[in-house]
Amino acid sequence: MYKLVPSVCSYCGTGCGVLFKVLDGRLLGTLPLKSHPLNQGKLCIKGWNLHEYVNSSMRLHSPRLRINGRLHKVTWDRALHFTSEKLKAVIAQHGPDSVGVLASAKVTNEENYLLQKFARTVVGTNNVDHCARL
Ligand code: SF4
Repeated sequence: MYKLVPSVCSYCGTGCGVLFKVLDGRLLGTLPLKSHPLNQGKLCIKGWNLHEYVNSSMRLHSPRLRINGRLHKVTWDRALHFTSEKLKAVIAQHGPDSVGVLASAKVTNEENYLLQKFARTVVGTNNVDHCARL
């Protein structure tokens, strides 16, 4: 079944309206949403290619851990345990402001909100930045 799914471009804070072209549950392409009050049917080059990373063969679907110089596929539990132990060690030795958190435009606003909340309340730092600000 072919359908057009309205959404919002996640590449920057402008928030242009898009229509995703979906065939049998597979994302095929991106169109500008003409009725959106902000972009009024226009997209920049990033927005036109918004769908590409979803189906990219280079996209990682599981975490990697560098062991003896080589990246190995690991479970989320192992990756999160490893990361939390390293973060705790760095914070204990150098303080919370030795940690910085970089968020991504390729996740939702809600996920970015949670990330800054994690930085401020769990890690204890205001060192938070986001690629959409660049
Ligand atoms: S990246 Fe381009 S299309 Fe996407 S929200 Fe920003 S200006 Fe709009």
